[in-house]
Amino acid sequence: MAAKTHKVTLVPGDGIGPEVTTAVVKIVEAAGAATGAAFDWHTFDAGADAFAKTGEYIPKALYNSIEQNRVALKGPVTTPIGGGFASINVTLRKKFDLFANFRPIKNLPGLKTNYPGVDLIIFRENTEDLYAGLEVMVVPGVAQSLKIITEKGSTRIAKAAFDYAKKHGRKKIHSIHKANIMKLTDGLFLDCARKVATGFPEVEYKEHIVDNTCMQLVMNPYQYDILLTENLYGDILSDLCSAFVGGLGLVPGANLGAECAIFEAVHGSAPDIAGKDLANPTALLQSAVLMLHHLDEPATAERIQAGIEAVYAEGKTLTKDVGGTSGTKAFADAVIAAMESAA
Ligand code: ATP
Ligand code: MG
Repeated sequence: MAAKTHKVTLVPGDGIGPEVTTAVVKIVEAAGAATGAAFDWHTFDAGADAFAKTGEYIPKALYNSIEQNRVALKGPVTTPIGGGFASINVTLRKKFDLFANFRPIKNLPGLKTNYPGVDLIIFRENTEDLYAGLEVMVVPGVAQSLKIITEKGSTRIAKAAFDYAKKHGRKKIHSIHKANIMKLTDGLFLDCARKVATGFPEVEYKEHIVDNTCMQLVMNPYQYDILLTENLYGDILSDLCSAFVGGLGLVPGANLGAECAIFEAVHGSAPDIAGKDLANPTALLQSAVLMLHHLDEPATAERIQAGIEAVYAEGKTLTKDVGGTSGTKAFADAVIAAMESAA
């Protein structure tokens, strides 16, 4: 079979990043070898490691590579708390205007959680809100952070969520907000979502206040289909929702813009388990599955997804976070073996 070669920018990141990235690349290569998809990985450091080598947190060569390839697979990069270090993740999302953060939350067959059969999607606005990073020390002892919500930003994320719902036959969208308190910012977000909703009569549109949503999700996540959120609420709700499907080791994500897309897990660099072969690569692997669909390689994507599902259904080679005793590498090898025996 003539292989089609996809150029993909690869950022292993730090903490557990290099371990999960190595596992994922190995699996994607194995799947591609069977389906006729080939990959040319352009690998770059980012964050503290890049700074030590190049003097830049995000090397110019990495920016150029994403600009050219238009698609990247990215491991987590640590953002130290406080200090003058801008988040690499936020900087990349802003630089490439990756305004839509897409996070599907779906149980894997065979992995028991307290919430079986959850299937919901978070569409998180990815470029503004309190993450605009506009913070000042007004006077000593008083700090201020500006919450930026724009008509443009709110409308395009709402449009992305409704377009997705229509295309994929999803039934319901809830805007999540706190407009009772933040009447102008969250009020504008809701106004924009309502306007977009009028163009999609086939999709039911509702609004829930964010604190109530946390309670409602824990009581009954099945009432939700798509959650449409600003940046901060989406970040917090993603971690909450990850618990439905087995935790942060499972949930994938895509950062989508008009020109480029960066695929990365919801989780961070988990320094507590880094370098110990303990990390679960499933979240980044399912992010790679999203990437393969984006690259129009559905056969490769489905082969990997089937491999993941077979390993979870068998339940013998799972990582510690989901109740197993296997390491990152053994899990990856089990997925490869499952893909091969399914063929
Ligand atoms: P960030 O600020 O970057 O979102 P965070 O504070 O939310 O980071 P994470 O790094 O995402 O924290 O991880 C929280 C905890 O979840 C980790 O300490 C780790 O124990 C667990 N965890 C996260 N990702 C994984 C994974 N892939 N496999 C196993 N455990 C994980
Ligand atoms: Mg987090």
